[in-house]
Amino acid sequence: MTQSNNLVGSNINLVKSHNMRAILLSLLRDDKVSRVELAEKLSLSNTTITNLTSELLGQGIIVEERIETPEKPRRVGRPRRMLRLVPSARYAIGVHIGVGLFRVAITDLFAEIIYNEIEIFDLTTPPEDVINNIVQLIEETIKVCDVERERVIGVGVGASGLVNYEKGISVLAPRLGWENVPIQHLMEIQLDLPVCVDNNVRAMALAEAFFGDGRGVGVLAFVYGRIGVGSGIVVNGRVFRGSGAGAGEIGHTIVIPQGGDICTCGSTGCLETLLSEPVWIRYVEDLAAAHPDSLIAATLNLEDERTPIERIFSAARDGDELIQQFIEERACYLGIALANLVNVLNPELIILGGMLAQGSDLILPIAEAKMRETAFARLGENVQLKTTSFGWRAGVIGAAALALTTYFYKNVEVI
Ligand SMILES: [Zn+2]
Repeated sequence: MTQSNNLVGSNINLVKSHNMRAILLSLLRDDKVSRVELAEKLSLSNTTITNLTSELLGQGIIVEERIETPEKPRRVGRPRRMLRLVPSARYAIGVHIGVGLFRVAITDLFAEIIYNEIEIFDLTTPPEDVINNIVQLIEETIKVCDVERERVIGVGVGASGLVNYEKGISVLAPRLGWENVPIQHLMEIQLDLPVCVDNNVRAMALAEAFFGDGRGVGVLAFVYGRIGVGSGIVVNGRVFRGSGAGAGEIGHTIVIPQGGDICTCGSTGCLETLLSEPVWIRYVEDLAAAHPDSLIAATLNLEDERTPIERIFSAARDGDELIQQFIEERACYLGIALANLVNVLNPELIILGGMLAQGSDLILPIAEAKMRETAFARLGENVQLKTTSFGWRAGVIGAAALALTTYFYKNVEVI
């Protein structure tokens, strides 16, 4: 949406759509609400609420439940009629495209995952083939779940790198080797469903704002670290995308002004050169080679199911001082980048995901102290820093949230 849309006039259908959206969002946040409460909360007439909720009842999107209210004896015999959303009334499909893997999940109206699948792809695979494989997995997922296709409201795609949401294009994803890939178009010509695409971390931030710990929060940022580092910003329920496709590229904040390592973006000293899985694994492997008798060397050599990053965190937890010092130093750089984010945005909440959440017991306290110490005046004191409660599901839940907020909770006329 461009800024100029704020200046567009309104008509009766838009008003209805706006009111419908307000009702659905209210039901999403409050679980059960009576018509009278809805009318009061939304400053709408009882007639408007009755008309709009009848429509939703007719479509099976909400149900009415009678609840006795013993605390109000005068009302005995006149149970309150409460309305609530039916989570399984509609479904959304979320697609998370990471570096070398994609996940497809089907969720209900509360972004709860009903089914999900993961597939690995080689980075030399042409993007068109990756999209074709995603489409195939979506079709299989709909079949396996036995979900009626007309109940699927659409597909949300969260992709790594710069994404143009308006056009549904992956503008640039250097780690995937993708440039100007028309994801939305390629998927819509094969699927009989609408498709929307955004950056994967922006989608995660959106999920937190509507379905996670960010509910009711005015300004929040989601900071995700894995192969790279990115952030998503949500302001009053809307994703902040900047003037192009690049808002939130915190990974390219320069934290070492001189003499830093070269980043994939071509610059030097970016946060990403100090804080990402590949960078950590490379550094720690060298450290282990230089200290063959260390705990980390032994941990890396163990034959078990854990990923290298899990082994690094585990060695630190088991007392490897070299690794503890390394993590502490890197967490400080994260704290500086977070302080910059706080100074610019003044968010109420920052949520960490990916490897930052996996190692949050080691990373968060250090990053938090540095952020509070470095941020301007009291801005750092007032922000809450926590890890995502979505865990590994943040990517697909984010993508599904993108579909739900684009096609269901926002533009309700499509239902
Ligand atoms: Zn960079």
